[in-house]
Amino acid sequence: MAEAVPSKKVGGHAYGRRVKQMSNTAEEGELCLYSGHSLGRFSSHSMRYDSHQACVRCVAGAREGRMSFDISKLLKKNRVKALRFWSLVDIGDPDECWEWNGCINKRTKQPQFAWRRHGISSSTQHHPQRVAMWFTWGDLGFTGVKTTCGNKYCCNPFHLIPQNIGVFVDHDSYLESFELACELHTLKQQIAEYVIQQAVKEQEKIASAEGLDQREELILNPNSMFDERYEAVMVDMLQGRHISQTKPESPGLFEQPEDHQTDDEDPTSEF
Ligand SMILES: [Zn+2]
Ligand SMILES: [Zn+2]
Repeated sequence: MAEAVPSKKVGGHAYGRRVKQMSNTAEEGELCLYSGHSLGRFSSHSMRYDSHQACVRCVAGAREGRMSFDISKLLKKNRVKALRFWSLVDIGDPDECWEWNGCINKRTKQPQFAWRRHGISSSTQHHPQRVAMWFTWGDLGFTGVKTTCGNKYCCNPFHLIPQNIGVFVDHDSYLESFELACELHTLKQQIAEYVIQQAVKEQEKIASAEGLDQREELILNPNSMFDERYEAVMVDMLQGRHISQTKPESPGLFEQPEDHQTDDEDPTSEF
């Protein structure tokens, strides 16, 4: 009788393979989230361990116990993502649990963060603990991550330990680290700025929608005066947002009625 061997079949859901041992072979993979981790200066690939798609350089850092809150170490395009992510985490003291305030799947009750990461996982939703790991311990692909506190909504990287890569964890030194405290302070300020920016953008959106409503009211109201309408149209044209400028191809009110054949019966032919 042959000895049982593990299936050589690759495939299945990437996260199903997270508990496997880390391979010691690397391949050219997706570009790491961090700057300076590409194969060459102009390369858009990073070396990743083929078992978990963990960036080789990030794994080396994590094995030395390096973690960081400094988003300027990320590639520029990932910094906004990081701020968005951290804005959804209730960041407290280093020894507290940092609760997840973002999306929680209604059916599974699992916390999730939407992010499409090509080449890492086909899943578009990731557990916030994994994302917190990516933004602090490094881009470790779909390496498993466990908490020391047992709280599945906790995103405090001090409570998270990447699995199977031999990460060196020295909790006392993290909690006393002046550098980490500074990075965390800066991150909190950056998040506050980000949140204000987003709120301003949201306000602008509402204001412009209100402006459009007012304009519509003025143009469609038969009692509005000619000079008011004239002024409104001139302002719109000068700002380049008049219908004749935004939709020059649209025939607007002169459109011919169109039958979209939505009902099967044709009431006009039956009589
Ligand atoms: Zn990396
Ligand atoms: Zn915790």
